[in-house]
Amino acid sequence: MIRAEGLTVDYPRRVPAGTAGGASFDRALDGLDLSVARGASLAVVGPSGCGKSTLLYAVAGLVPVSGGRLEVEGRPPAGRAGTALVFQDYGLFPWKTARQNVELGFRGPAARGAAKDRARSLLERFGVGYAADKYPAELSGGERQRTAIARALASEPDLLLLDEPSSSLDALAKESFQRAVLGLCSHSDSPRGLTVVLVTHDIEEAAFLGGSVAVMERGRIRAVQENPLFGDPALRERLEYYEFCLGVRRLLGEEP
Ligand code: ADP
Ligand code: MG
Repeated sequence: MIRAEGLTVDYPRRVPAGTAGGASFDRALDGLDLSVARGASLAVVGPSGCGKSTLLYAVAGLVPVSGGRLEVEGRPPAGRAGTALVFQDYGLFPWKTARQNVELGFRGPAARGAAKDRARSLLERFGVGYAADKYPAELSGGERQRTAIARALASEPDLLLLDEPSSSLDALAKESFQRAVLGLCSHSDSPRGLTVVLVTHDIEEAAFLGGSVAVMERGRIRAVQENPLFGDPALRERLEYYEFCLGVRRLLGEEP
């Protein structure tokens, strides 16, 4: 599904006017190798600034590749219809209700009434059907996040990219949100095999939602760990879960 080889992404650096010198840039991805199979769920964990968002933007075709190769289903990623990205700040339109935001995700023309019903049922699937007629400013962080995912799924993607999906939620909202996302990642309701890539700085989230967990460091993937525990909604009650998290923490070079 996704193949990156030696992927490099540079951001042009703003240079004060009149300053001498050649082109200057910040290297956000630096020779990154990654392969994600169709239908897999990959969690990428790494510290702030290591290039997680840039990796998702590159896979979504939103930032240009400066070097190396990046393909989604054998093609360059830009303009691909099956890819949906949920931004860290959700990207909801404040002047539209939750339901209207979800309707924006539908591809192609849909009869007005049908779109309304489909949007409402997507919101219900994520447990926020009751908030369909509220505006983003009237929603909690968790409700906004669920609405943003419902909107992403409205386009019926085969590749879902999630940027720090629960970073702004409190602990209880986070667990309930993560269980909703696990349903997507573990395909219990996706016969077509949705591929999910989520990036996070939260090791426990990565271990809960990733069929494999990639550890990222300064623009590269340092290691990928298969996650044998993946798919169990009651994972937090198992000691092995904490052992797995500890292993990832060590790979990140963090002492517990
Ligand atoms: P993460 O999501 O892991 O926190 P990012 O992908 O946002 O990391 O950023 C990776 C690096 O690229 C950081 O050093 C950041 O400062 C830099 N960067 C990100 N966006 C831009 C941009 N638009 N222009 C210049 N540098 C950027
Ligand atoms: Mg980021």
